[in-house]
Amino acid sequence: MKILVPIKRVVDYNVKIRVKSDGTGVETAGVKMSMNPFDEIAIEEAVRLKEKGVASEIIAVSMGVAACAETIRTALAMGADRGVLVETDAELQPLAVAKMLQVLVTREQPGLVIMGKQAIDDDMNATGQMLAALLGWSQGTFASKIVLEDGAAFVTREIDGGLETVKLSLPTIITADLRLNEPRYASLPNIMKARKKPIETIKPADLGVDPAPRLTIVSVAEPPKRQAGVKVGSVAELVAKLKLEAKVI
Ligand code: AMP
Repeated sequence: MKILVPIKRVVDYNVKIRVKSDGTGVETAGVKMSMNPFDEIAIEEAVRLKEKGVASEIIAVSMGVAACAETIRTALAMGADRGVLVETDAELQPLAVAKMLQVLVTREQPGLVIMGKQAIDDDMNATGQMLAALLGWSQGTFASKIVLEDGAAFVTREIDGGLETVKLSLPTIITADLRLNEPRYASLPNIMKARKKPIETIKPADLGVDPAPRLTIVSVAEPPKRQAGVKVGSVAELVAKLKLEAKVI
């Protein structure tokens, strides 16, 4: 069974996000970029399924600027077998990504698509669900455990009230949550080996998809600055402040 893993290149999670001075988005010039952390978890899960002999091939797909090839190399070093880069300078939104993935899934025929539950740059949490809808496939979102058995996927999901396990018929879409696993670091020999693994580069037009955005971002602004805390001298002062100054935010 093939597993397809979509991976997004995003601002590294350690970087303090800065809004562009004209308020049109987040500053990415000169900023460290990395694989979306939930996508690393998705790759790790796919590699573990291959190590167990359940999966035969892992295909890492990234869409965006040419530098997404670096993100694919990271996935190849972790254990993916080959990459597909859909290269475009267009600003990509979840529907366009899902439509392009739909065409790739039809071409590659994977038994499983494992992706991140959300990208940490736009926090959309939409692409997996849209892809499942476009394909008419089952979906197991926010997965913290995946067991493949009897031709089905048993996915334990993190929901508000606790954990829920769903049985999904294959092929299916699974989106990875934080507790699914702890991704490995690529070893030096595997980084070297990854250089020889193939990456196919195509354009959105090759998939017959117009990636033009459907949503217009009106403005991007930083959250209001929080005021510094104060030390109170007595319980009476604290009670007075709670009565007169405290607000529910
Ligand atoms: P989102 O719906 O934008 O929060 O993204 C959810 C997941 O969709 C990500 O964790 C990735 O697995 C996948 N995804 C989103 N955008 C891209 C992209 N440009 N290239 C590859 N995968 C993507």
